[in-house]
Amino acid sequence: RGTMTVGELAKALHKDASEVIKKLLFLGVMATINQELDLDAIQLLASDYGVEVELKIPVEEDKFEQFEEKDEEEDLLERPPVVTIMGHVDHGKTTLLDAIRKTNVTEGEAGGITQHIGAYQAETNGKKITFLDTPGHEAFTSMRARGAQVTDITIIVVAADDGVMPQTIEAIAHAKAAKVPIIVAVNKIDKPEANPDRIKQELTEYELVPEEWGGDTIFCNISAKQRMGLDNLLDMILLVAEVQEFKANPNKRARGTVIEAELDKGKGPVARVLIQHGTLKVGDSFVAGVCFGRVRAMVNDKGKRLKEAGPSTPVEITGLTEVPQAGDPFLAFEDERKARAIAEKRAVTLRQSEMGANARVTLDELYKQI
Ligand code: GDP
Ligand code: MG
Repeated sequence: RGTMTVGELAKALHKDASEVIKKLLFLGVMATINQELDLDAIQLLASDYGVEVELKIPVEEDKFEQFEEKDEEEDLLERPPVVTIMGHVDHGKTTLLDAIRKTNVTEGEAGGITQHIGAYQAETNGKKITFLDTPGHEAFTSMRARGAQVTDITIIVVAADDGVMPQTIEAIAHAKAAKVPIIVAVNKIDKPEANPDRIKQELTEYELVPEEWGGDTIFCNISAKQRMGLDNLLDMILLVAEVQEFKANPNKRARGTVIEAELDKGKGPVARVLIQHGTLKVGDSFVAGVCFGRVRAMVNDKGKRLKEAGPSTPVEITGLTEVPQAGDPFLAFEDERKARAIAEKRAVTLRQSEMGANARVTLDELYKQI
């Protein structure tokens, strides 16, 4: 759990190692030249020499972007939009996700066993839309906190018989902070007490103004339960996607984000990954967060085995050595040794930053005592 050996510290302080060892002994720390010192000991010694130790919390110097080839404009091809559904509890998010999944499965895949892989693809007018079905708020808060942006469009579901509620407002705030376009789905319009106009009125306070009132927010009246208005909602998603021109280069190694991961009794570590750039192939080596692996098998949301998966495709993969975390960046490498080396380096960086964070706490406590 050390960070620096006695020898390294002596060099940094421009002192003789033997002198440092003596000093440490005097301060109550028994150490040899190759011994790693913990941060407290380093701090103690440095302050004794009148040197201030600055704790550096390592930022991710090894961001995956640096390993990635730059794209030329002509390499970029249209890709399906990735949509998150958010809204207040009981306003109908799960019902809506299920309704779309059941009615709009890809041609030829109808009847296939759908499996939960944290996301699925629907198809309308020959175009695909990827829906994240991890809870929207979680996807936003945990993934965005880790710098991962996986969503292109947010659907905010508001129950027409209930109105704008705290989690509705929170969802709007998240989407705005992430600069993700919002489509409002006014749900439960089948209910006699439904009042869609009241929802529109309430949302103007949050700068979501419908087009007919001079704004630019798309509102769709739906009933997730009765499956009313769903085709229109999907059309509106495609319309927004067309305006935004979501693109990616499918012809390079894959980069994406882990949306879920777990240890499966039979399959071992399993990761559900949203591919965002490039194409992932069976047999590819990869790094996911601080884990690495080699794609053993890849399955889509219909339980179909895939040999490769391009941009905006959610897949479940096996072949990891450990279980990564949701929000972890994912990058394929041609070279397994390189993948392993990078994962190991990231693991060390993570451990150090955790130690740095602990060191901060210790220092805070120290100050409190004074
Ligand atoms: P979530 O918490 O946002 O995921 O909400 P759910 O999808 O679990 O729905 C909460 C309740 O509202 C359930 O009892 C649903 O059956 C019901 N519900 C969802 N959509 C509709 C709808 O369009 N009309 C009516 N009448 N009920 C709905
Ligand atoms: Mg739900």
